Amino acid sequence: MNILVLPGDDIGPEITAAALAVLERANAVYSLGLKFELRDVGVASYKKIGTTLPDSIVDEALAADAVVLGPCGMTDYPPREQGGVNVPGTIRKRLDLYANIRPARSRAGLQKALPKLDCLIVRENTEGFYSDRNMFLGSGEFMPTEDVALSVRKITAKASRRIAQVAFDYAKRRRKHVTAVGKRHVLQLSDGIFINQATAVAQQFPDVAWREMDIDAMAADLYTRPERHDVILITNMFGDVLSNLAVAMSGSLGLAAALNASDRYAVANAGHGSAPDIAGEDIANPTGLILSTAMLLDWLGHRHGRTQLMQAGRAVEGAVDAVLANPATRSKDLGGSIGTHAFGTAVVAQLEKSANRIAQTV
Ligand code: NAD
Repeated sequence: MNILVLPGDDIGPEITAAALAVLERANAVYSLGLKFELRDVGVASYKKIGTTLPDSIVDEALAADAVVLGPCGMTDYPPREQGGVNVPGTIRKRLDLYANIRPARSRAGLQKALPKLDCLIVRENTEGFYSDRNMFLGSGEFMPTEDVALSVRKITAKASRRIAQVAFDYAKRRRKHVTAVGKRHVLQLSDGIFINQATAVAQQFPDVAWREMDIDAMAADLYTRPERHDVILITNMFGDVLSNLAVAMSGSLGLAAALNASDRYAVANAGHGSAPDIAGEDIANPTGLILSTAMLLDWLGHRHGRTQLMQAGRAVEGAVDAVLANPATRSKDLGGSIGTHAFGTAVVAQLEKSANRIAQTV
């Protein structure tokens, strides 16, 4: 299987190196047969060839079995017509990565983590209020006069139905509960479609309970009663905001794992940005991207019916948990002092330790 690795900008190359070290070790220990190809995107690519994302990379992503993408610093890119292409946005659109899967859970001992949080946000990833990319052609944001700007929020039955299907599928494998989030009495037509589709899909899952909540009530409820929420089904922009809140409640944005998936493609891309304020200092927490690659292994395992890939994904997650459980191996954002590279090395060592333990008991 071919994995395309795109390190991205700012902290991207540092955390991608740590995540790749873990992935390479998992590949060897579990005999996964993965091959990795590294390519520049973002500022590194722009400096060499005048564009942050050449078409050839999109073609390689379309041909690969999966992609690992580091965060990209879009706010520092030149305008699009001068080569500043939004890398994650374009890859999401071209690969039709309609599902953004973002887990958040509390781990014992982490400062700032709220107990009893263990949720999976299933966010629609192609339309909603993302007006720069939600149209077939042109932008969903425009100015009819010089002092009026309009942004169009697009909700379709097709996109709502397929994301609801993903949410209920995940819920079936978890605690069998979905909270569908919108603001239906205000966004009556668009969230009407979104919730109606959730209602229809729910009929196929009689063993999964579900409820509808407004986004404002949801934000408060997630904070005060996190144990009530398992899978959270949500539109694009509300989901972007709520997932950052959820992961901050788990201890730090540095823990933000995320998978962007369609039925054919999957891209591991941490839920946080490129953190230019701490780039190049070896202090970024690579946990989010490492856990994103664990999700990618699990996704590949389900897609290709290969239990070894799922097993490797669980092993990576277990190794990260073990490393985070030790205050001596926590990164700065979690109150510790270990660097990005050393954290990756600690996860690799833990992965080997657990694999040896399993080998001895077999
Ligand atoms: P950000 O997520 O990069 O940073 C917000 C805060 O969280 C900063 O204080 C940062 O230092 C901290 N942080 C983030 N990741 C961390 C990590 N792994 N370890 C420790 N601390 C971490 O958000 P921002 O500052 O609003 O955006 C910076 C750039 O990232 C922008 O150019 C934005 O467009 C881009 N961005 C990219 C993606 C992506 O590639 N998928 C997503 C969001 C934002």
